[in-house]
Amino acid sequence: MDLNVMRHSTAHIMAAAVARLFENVQLDIGPATDDGFYYDFDLPARIVPEDFPRIEAEMNRIIKADLPFEKIQMNRSEAASALKGQKYKLERLADIPENEPVTFYKCGDFIDLCRGPHLERTGKVSAFKLLSVAGSYYRGLETNPMLQRIYGIAAQSRKELDAYLKRLEEARKRDHRKLGRELDLFSSHDEIGPGLILWHPKGAMVRSVIEDYWRREHLREGYELLYSPHLGRSQLWTTSGHLDFYRESMYAPMQIDDQEYFIKPMNCPFHILVYKSNLRSYRELPMRWAELGTVYRYEKAGVLHGLLRVRGFTQDDAHIFCTAGQMEVEIGKTLRFAIKILRSFGFADISAYLSTKPAKAIGNEENWVAATDSLRNALQNEKIAFTVEEGGGAFYGPKVDLKIHDAIGREWQMTTVQFDFNLPERFDISYIGEDGQPHRPYMIHRALLGSLERFFGILIEHYGGAFPFWLAPEQARILPITDKELEYAEETAEVLRRELFRVKIDTSSGKIGAKIRNAQIEKVPYMLIVGPKERANRTVSVRSRSEGDRGALPLTELVEKLKQEVKV
Ligand SMILES: [Zn+2]
Ligand SMILES: [Zn+2]
Repeated sequence: MDLNVMRHSTAHIMAAAVARLFENVQLDIGPATDDGFYYDFDLPARIVPEDFPRIEAEMNRIIKADLPFEKIQMNRSEAASALKGQKYKLERLADIPENEPVTFYKCGDFIDLCRGPHLERTGKVSAFKLLSVAGSYYRGLETNPMLQRIYGIAAQSRKELDAYLKRLEEARKRDHRKLGRELDLFSSHDEIGPGLILWHPKGAMVRSVIEDYWRREHLREGYELLYSPHLGRSQLWTTSGHLDFYRESMYAPMQIDDQEYFIKPMNCPFHILVYKSNLRSYRELPMRWAELGTVYRYEKAGVLHGLLRVRGFTQDDAHIFCTAGQMEVEIGKTLRFAIKILRSFGFADISAYLSTKPAKAIGNEENWVAATDSLRNALQNEKIAFTVEEGGGAFYGPKVDLKIHDAIGREWQMTTVQFDFNLPERFDISYIGEDGQPHRPYMIHRALLGSLERFFGILIEHYGGAFPFWLAPEQARILPITDKELEYAEETAEVLRRELFRVKIDTSSGKIGAKIRNAQIEKVPYMLIVGPKERANRTVSVRSRSEGDRGALPLTELVEKLKQEVKV
């Protein structure tokens, strides 16, 4: 059975139920969604989740009656009289091109203007549930009336529906906005503006661990680091083409010394100017330049979402400049590097997508073929299974994307490795080849994590806020049983801090049980309990966040054990 057809048919059944149960219902449309369906209504009553059980009961009656979906063809005047009083439907009717047939679907006493297709009978709906109701502007326009949209899900079986509901509940528990507040990781404020993030000490600590690791690994991979400013003159963005093709994502310019400056939406033009600052020889290539570059892009307020969609963010950006002969090796290296980094953050389930030349593209065919081949060959050499998205590339070059699956099976786009035939032309960059002649280098943009903000949001949800030991903002908390152990607790903390472990002491007057509970709530990986016995023996009693009591350990052994747990 086609799931979309089933989901859309369920939307009809819901509309029929709502029309039966409520007065003066105006219908709009009811498409299938990724996991269910919705339908938009206009009616005097306000629908609330408390209404769902009786709407569902009515739907179940319609399903049980196993009514056929009958297709009825009408001419326009017949259609208009059938839709009398339904103002949204009449407008939707007017949208149907003159040469297209007008079809209705009848299901019992309920008839709806619709293109179809539908199930044969209502009885074929296997499992559904209404989820939520929200305001939604007619045709998505804020100047139009606000309709009431009821969302539901529909699945192949009761079992699949239950699994989906469970995942939804799990996602709600892991919501990074909720955990960000509870664990005091980050915030955003109206006074600052939407989509602009404040990293609190604990969130900033995780970020700093990520950045340190990121830098170290880039140096290992033969990258060099760059820093570039947050502003650039309009001339730069004219040369790069951003003012022509990307302006709606850029903020208004500011005037400095009679010149227009723009806040950067991308780091690339700066890196290119570093390249251009010297005459380059083939002997210097490949060049791999990385920057944790903070950029600002305009996003509509309605699409902003916690850390996942923001207006200011730091990309883990890099650009590789290389010769035609080097690119396959470079792509292979980059893919291996990306997979290593993603795995180290706990994402083992990775899928790859190769996007090829779209209908509208710049650059010569030869370059497209060479670049696309190098991406494909590198994927094959690395034995990475991939899906080809024909024509899915950007107008300026082919790319490979890596997506990961998180702890609850959701897919997230992470790494992008993207060729660019546009900027090297626009900035007219070159290198002197073995033949003594200037040549255009290949330019590759790549980000492994995407942006630190979004990546942090995904990490929070993946781990449900319980970061692994190497990432945890507070790795261990020392819990003295009484004040008599404070001095020994301090000593223990010092030993651990000398090894750069992130440690705090709970100096509160609470009972040990309360101290353990707090550390557990704050998801600290290790609790180190010190009482008179531990003080006398120079040990600590180790309690793990996930495994509970682990027994007493001498301090020196504890240090060794923790060192083992940290990534190298
Ligand atoms: Zn329909
Ligand atoms: Zn770039």
